[in-house]
Amino acid sequence: MDQRGILIVVSGFAGTGKGTIMKRLLQSYADSYALSVSMTTRAPRPGEQEGVEYFFTDRRAFEEKIADGGLIEYASYCGNYYGTPREYVERQMEAGKDVILEIEVQGALQVKKKFPGTVLMFVMPPSARTLYDRIRGRGTETDEVIGARMRRAVEECEYIPRYDYILVNDDLEACVEQMHHIIQSEKMSTARNAAFIEEIARELRAL
Ligand code: ADP
Ligand code: 5GP
Repeated sequence: MDQRGILIVVSGFAGTGKGTIMKRLLQSYADSYALSVSMTTRAPRPGEQEGVEYFFTDRRAFEEKIADGGLIEYASYCGNYYGTPREYVERQMEAGKDVILEIEVQGALQVKKKFPGTVLMFVMPPSARTLYDRIRGRGTETDEVIGARMRRAVEECEYIPRYDYILVNDDLEACVEQMHHIIQSEKMSTARNAAFIEEIARELRAL
């Protein structure tokens, strides 16, 4: 069977719980998945560490990285650049890890275009009110930033039908298990296993 890992994109409105889900998934299935660490021009939040949540950088260095072809995709979101460094993703896929990109909608569509086999998942909150309560409860953004992100969430709704799956983050553990099952099911699709199917057919003919 194909040992190369697959590419998975996880998107969702700010405050839905993407970061929390990713942490939990990686804790439970560290051997299966690799989480890409993005580059951003946004300032670190209290507690965020360089190279863990993001590689924090300025606009000039970010634009140099774009010019060098060092990013698989990038986008501007609420006034800052965010992008996916190419090298780590390629190395992990070669090593057989399924690589998860936790990125916003414009980047997600760029990745799907470049790599059509990418699985796109959109994490939904159980309700709009819950989303608002979660982002406020996190306490890491000003009211102004929360307002910009909620307005962006309205725009992002237009893109959701272009995703392959939605997940509802109500019970965290249930959501993490669903994500894992969807990925594992995708890996067993006939389309992804054409070479293996052909190999068995060849062996049968030779028997
Ligand atoms: P995102 O990465 O999507 O912006 P976070 O992972 O930072 O969101 O989550 C936003 C807030 O919601 C955090 O305070 C987190 O603890 C909380 N949260 C995440 N998932 C759940 C859940 N299933 N139930 C309740 N609270 C949650
Ligand atoms: P935050 O500032 O809350 O960490 O992230 C803001 C948004 O940027 C989220 O929707 C997150 O998924 C997205 N994002 C994070 N990294 C990347 C990236 O490398 N590329 C793109 N296109 N979006 C990203």
